[in-house]
Amino acid sequence: MDAAARATAYLHQIRQRRVFPSDDAIQALEQLVEPLPEAPSDPQAVLELLDRVASPATVANAGGRYFGFVNGGTLPASLAASWLAAAWAQNMGLRVLSPAAALLEDIALDWIGDLLHLPEGCGGGVVTGATVANFCCLAAARHALLEKAGWDVENAGLFHAPELKVVVGGEVHISLIKALGMLGLGRQRVHRVPVDGQGRMKASELPSLDDRTILCLQAGNVNTGAFDPADGICDKARASGAWVHVDGAFGLWAAASPRYRHLTEGFSGASSWAVDAHKWLNVGYDCGIAMVRDPGALRAAMTFSAPYVVTSEKRDPSQYTPEMSRRARGVELWAALRSLGRQGFAELIDRTCDHARHFAEALASHGFRILNDVVINQVLVSFGDPAFTRAVIDALQRDGTCWCGGTVWQGHTAMRISVSSWVTSSEDVDKSVAAILRAVKSIR
Ligand SMILES: *Cc1c(COP(=O)(O)O)cnc(C)c1O
Repeated sequence: MDAAARATAYLHQIRQRRVFPSDDAIQALEQLVEPLPEAPSDPQAVLELLDRVASPATVANAGGRYFGFVNGGTLPASLAASWLAAAWAQNMGLRVLSPAAALLEDIALDWIGDLLHLPEGCGGGVVTGATVANFCCLAAARHALLEKAGWDVENAGLFHAPELKVVVGGEVHISLIKALGMLGLGRQRVHRVPVDGQGRMKASELPSLDDRTILCLQAGNVNTGAFDPADGICDKARASGAWVHVDGAFGLWAAASPRYRHLTEGFSGASSWAVDAHKWLNVGYDCGIAMVRDPGALRAAMTFSAPYVVTSEKRDPSQYTPEMSRRARGVELWAALRSLGRQGFAELIDRTCDHARHFAEALASHGFRILNDVVINQVLVSFGDPAFTRAVIDALQRDGTCWCGGTVWQGHTAMRISVSSWVTSSEDVDKSVAAILRAVKSIR
């Protein structure tokens, strides 16, 4: 009860406080640095210490004015479910460890397949985020293509294996490159397809594809929000025998909104999809989903057995993910989807996109250059030369009203605005625009 009361109080005051903690609050964290206590302490006192010292030093990601990276908040149902699930202490490794949590995860995966318009029969795993989801999907791809080439990669490894070609767009997300490195496919051993000014792969520049090729498409560029032109690429690539993977970390969720679904046309023709639930779906950290057209390929890449491991007829979660033991994060995923419903999620997508457009219009009306086509929830704005833009970002972050990060987009220094939280209101956008204008004035 004390924890719930403290958490509630934290969430109530979050709108009044700085988004990035003050230097004093960060300094005060030093109180936590101490030798390991010899004696036990009262749990209530531990919580009191944590709340008193650490809460003020948190980044207000749960408020409505955090626009850095691509960060969602946590929907009330998802937050509450996570408290309950923490009390349950379920190990999500096997069905026999938690029939309830395993079923909730199955249901959530089915609903996600439905929302994203994925083909019937897909299966997958609930992991920590899109990085690991990319890793899982690419492991399934590696298995499937090498199996077809007569090679058992899980047992024989990659030594002397037939070569695979990996094709990515010029603006591929770094997490996908990291996943390729972890899989022995090489961070640099990729064919990069040239992109246009929004970061979209140029379909006319695709190399030849065959049944030894993994083609990686992107739904939602982390800077511009742009989508690769999947329509026309996916089906043709799969017909050639290639495996088509989609990194749709946040952007693929646009498929759940009737207003934005057209942007995701063609992606359902792929072989695998990685999405994040802790971004646009606003499930608490950490939660991502790997979906695969042929779940058997993912299972083959992740499976294990031992005499003490009891598997069931149904889906055993750890047969589809890198982890064995893990927390039941599917519970929070289920709760978010159950509470939003199809309409609620579509409204969340539409609302955050509206906010992004308002940001862009307001900043453009003051003469600042918007560098991207604001197709979904991402805005890139330049305030002038690189040094000036960086100074504005710095001043804005020090001001504390909101938090936006910087980037370099195709040679242009810019500030990134990502509107991904269910909490953000029009008032939050107006306050943040005013803070940005204030930051500009303070530099001039
Ligand atoms: C955020 C993101 C990732 C990585 O997701 P994590 O949840 O941080 O692991 C991958 N790809 C894209 C396009 C992203 O936006």
